[in-house]
Amino acid sequence: MIDLHLHTTASDGTLAPAELVARAASIGITILSVTDHDTTDGFDEASATAARLGVTLVAGIEVTAVENARDVHILGYFIDPHASPLAEFLTRQRADRVLRVVRIAERLRALGCPIDVEPLLHAAARHPGRSIGRPQIADVLIRSGYARDRDDVFDRLLGDAKPGFVPRAGEAPERIIDVIRNAGGIASLAHPGLLRKDDVIPRLARAGLAALEVCHSDHDADAERHYRELAAANGLAVSGGSDYHGDFGRRESALGRVTLPQADFDRLRALAA
Ligand code: AMP
Ligand code: MN
Ligand code: MN
Ligand code: MN
Repeated sequence: MIDLHLHTTASDGTLAPAELVARAASIGITILSVTDHDTTDGFDEASATAARLGVTLVAGIEVTAVENARDVHILGYFIDPHASPLAEFLTRQRADRVLRVVRIAERLRALGCPIDVEPLLHAAARHPGRSIGRPQIADVLIRSGYARDRDDVFDRLLGDAKPGFVPRAGEAPERIIDVIRNAGGIASLAHPGLLRKDDVIPRLARAGLAALEVCHSDHDADAERHYRELAAANGLAVSGGSDYHGDFGRRESALGRVTLPQADFDRLRALAA
């Protein structure tokens, strides 16, 4: 089985990179990519475990771009995870995330949910390679008794247009595609069924996008068919993965459920070569 969309404790996943790779290998995943948000910090640890267990790790990332104040997630594959222009770019992305966490905490205080984000900010300062964001704020809200789980937080407070939402600064998707290509990789538009802005696809295809994430936990059979057709119509390859973050919430047992066909993977790899 092939899964090219997975998160670890380097961003908002709950398993450490070594644990994630071991778990994936134990259920029969043989090719995987760790795609943490705005960081490749989990790569070396994941790579060591993958080598030990005989599974293939594709160097990956999920970068947050912004268009019209909305987040657009761009996956990168076959990148050099230590390329220095990429590393410098990601350092800025993570610094913006820290500033945003501070602003969200201020907003939450005004909304009557005063939480202490100092421990989170200290952890971010101690581990500058890790990225923080709304999921980690959600965890503080849950621990402080203001919410039930992460989904509850996004539904009521931190999702798009909810009262605690703070717009983020960010780069256009075209710029992210360039950053990924300059690090030797190929770019795929993440979960277009969640984005629901199909009109960006032809434009991004012309800007060097290589693939569409057709297989994803939040795509039903109709969405999968629709995006496979759109990929073909725009000359794009197909990527896919579970977007597993750990055993909680709506993607609780997502690992192994959404996988990418080998033929699609072979085409992706050929594009990266
Ligand atoms: P951020 O990185 O701060 O933009 O937070 C977005 C992340 O929150 C996504 O990568 C998701 O993994 C996570 N998340 C968890 N629950 C939700 C939800 N209900 N809606 C949107 N994002 C969610
Ligand atoms: Mn996430
Ligand atoms: Mn995403
Ligand atoms: Mn993801």
